[in-house]
Amino acid sequence: MTTPEILVLFDIDGTLLRAAGSGRAATERAMREVFGTVGKLADYHFAGKTDWHTLLTLLTPEGFGEAEIEAALPRYDTAIARHMADVMRDYHIHALPGAPELVHALGQRPDVLMGIITGNMPQMADLKLRAAGFDPATFAVAVYGSEAPIRRQLVPLALERSEQRCGRHFDPSNTVFIGDTPDDIDCAHSIGARAVAVATGSISRAELEQHQPVVVLDDLTDQAKVLSIILGQSS
Ligand SMILES: [Mg+2]
Repeated sequence: MTTPEILVLFDIDGTLLRAAGSGRAATERAMREVFGTVGKLADYHFAGKTDWHTLLTLLTPEGFGEAEIEAALPRYDTAIARHMADVMRDYHIHALPGAPELVHALGQRPDVLMGIITGNMPQMADLKLRAAGFDPATFAVAVYGSEAPIRRQLVPLALERSEQRCGRHFDPSNTVFIGDTPDDIDCAHSIGARAVAVATGSISRAELEQHQPVVVLDDLTDQAKVLSIILGQSS
């Protein structure tokens, strides 16, 4: 039996799918329910940030303490999932071009382990994936935005879970991050892994290029190109 040798970690929003405003709507409702305020949510950009980070950024100026916010995360997870289930029917949550096909192709490969590294709360991540037609079980491991305030702090957790899952160590040279923000690229660089950036989110190709991923793609439709990078067949 082949054990996976290559770890591919996908971001969700702007990479696999577009939640089309549903996430912001659910965030607003859940923050009001759990914290009684949304702070300056209207001006806030979620891209690349964990939900824990988002809450710290929006609620610290409102007088909330770090420990208080951390303690409320489980309640927030439940609340945002409930509100998302309610609002999502009003939004067109959809997979981004090439993403379903790429995930399917990688799922056929016994040498590849796929995982999720996302800023979303756990239940929210699964709701979005399902709404866009992905089966969350396709991804053998997942780390969520409730597990660290800074995205790169999720990376050791992802590696640890992948190791536990497969009983083997994944070398950074065999690990690829696919994401749509400089924070995703930073995750890869934090361990010396490869970053594939995709310009299907809110960050421009030019800005992504400044952060020096292996490649910036317009979308994930060029499956041969993505596979060649993942499998280490191109430089
Ligand atoms: Mg993203």
